[in-house]
Amino acid sequence: MTAPEDSLVVTDLRVEFDGFVAVGGVSFDAHPGEVRFLIGPNGAGKTTCIDAITGLSKGTGSVKLGDRELLGTPVNKIVRLGVGRTFQTASVFEQLTVLQNLDIAAGLRRSSFSLLRARRGIDPAIESALEETGLSAERDTPAGILSHGQKQWLEIGMMLVQDPRALLLDEPVAGMSQDERTATGELMQRIAKNRIVLVVEHDMDFMRRYASRVTVLHQGKVLSEGTVAQVQADPKVQEVYLGT
Ligand code: ADP
Repeated sequence: MTAPEDSLVVTDLRVEFDGFVAVGGVSFDAHPGEVRFLIGPNGAGKTTCIDAITGLSKGTGSVKLGDRELLGTPVNKIVRLGVGRTFQTASVFEQLTVLQNLDIAAGLRRSSFSLLRARRGIDPAIESALEETGLSAERDTPAGILSHGQKQWLEIGMMLVQDPRALLLDEPVAGMSQDERTATGELMQRIAKNRIVLVVEHDMDFMRRYASRVTVLHQGKVLSEGTVAQVQADPKVQEVYLGT
């Protein structure tokens, strides 16, 4: 049983842009041990939800990570509280190797480790991120020549070395090959064993294969919620989304 202090709980989240209601009172929660999906047609408010959770957009209501309120908390503090996020386009340092990218990300977690590393070798968090993301063989490869999928995994690895409590992934498999999608789904399942994983996704096949629980958004509101089977069977979902 997961303790509530490990959960992300979004309650009545509302985000407006100049009077336009992009997210109009959305509630959902996510726990370690599940791959949590947020889906919905274009413009449903999915990205705005994760922008609000990560402090990039201002919202009202409540977003709690354990007992900490994230709404109103500055972005850098939210990162330090353990919330990591990827964007649709991976932001890695193309000129630097995989290892150097991970090292820079790990440096955000610890400032004094470099000294220690000089004596004791590589940061164990980097080794485990390389292994977890399947990038061990690419450690000395410049990030710029990685495949699209590998860049996304590197970005996930750059969060893992910071030991996040929650990972929010924005359309992680967009533009990926079938093999890369499968590897990404399996990576998410491994990460989700002991962390919160919230995935915003457009790809319905991917959602069907890897979602533990799904919230369907439509026009800034929750249309349906449940297991994949439950939301697929919901006539409201079929009407606005599935099959499109
Ligand atoms: P989704 O991720 O589900 O495709 P978004 O969260 O990106 O949807 O957008 C939800 C709605 O909010 C859309 O109608 C979009 O045009 C609008 N929106 C998003 N960001 C802004 C912004 N910065 N200013 C004005 N409107 C925005």
